[in-house]
Amino acid sequence: MFTKGNLIILSGPSGTGKGTVCKKLLINNKNVFYSISATTRLPRPGERNGREYWFLSKKDFEKMIKGNKLLEWAKVYDNYYGTPLDKVNELREQGRDVLLEIDTQGALSVMKKAADGVFIFLLPPSLRELEKRIRGRGTETQEIIRKRLDAAVGEISLGTKYHYLVVNKNVTEAVNQISAIITAEHCRTDRN
Ligand code: 5GP
Repeated sequence: MFTKGNLIILSGPSGTGKGTVCKKLLINNKNVFYSISATTRLPRPGERNGREYWFLSKKDFEKMIKGNKLLEWAKVYDNYYGTPLDKVNELREQGRDVLLEIDTQGALSVMKKAADGVFIFLLPPSLRELEKRIRGRGTETQEIIRKRLDAAVGEISLGTKYHYLVVNKNVTEAVNQISAIITAEHCRTDRN
């Protein structure tokens, strides 16, 4: 029996290590494809259009919203971020799992639209560790660091809405746990 690919949503506060976990996860799981988000934020050094994100102008992003071209979108720290819908559908129809790395607002909106999604919340080992990680990036201003830490406290309280909680104390362990979840989801008897 042919089954459509799973929609896997990995979410959690900024600085939890979602990006690093996703990269490793994709290396270990060749049937999982990363959904490249669109954003209006400026590229960070080393980021390339079409690899980390589709970097769009505010005008083009708003056109995508109006044209219903996004599965979800959210304003995160004064910039728009969103998941282009077409690619997600195309890959899932081909039987491939699609991984969304999105913020909690986006995840809550996908919960309403895609009841078959697999929702995974990545937690930092502690708030102190989260602060260290955000500061360690060295790319954000003091004001942005403060905003992200304040937001993290509220976001963590949303963790119970997800199907799975994974603590990112150690990247390899977190990746192994998520890989196990992905495998288990394929073995479910109640899959469509
Ligand atoms: P950053 O600017 O650090 O790359 O991302 C900031 C936040 O936006 C992160 O929490 C990231 O997961 C989230 N984000 C990235 N892409 C999307 C998206 O397509 N939709 C939503 N809702 N959030 C996203």
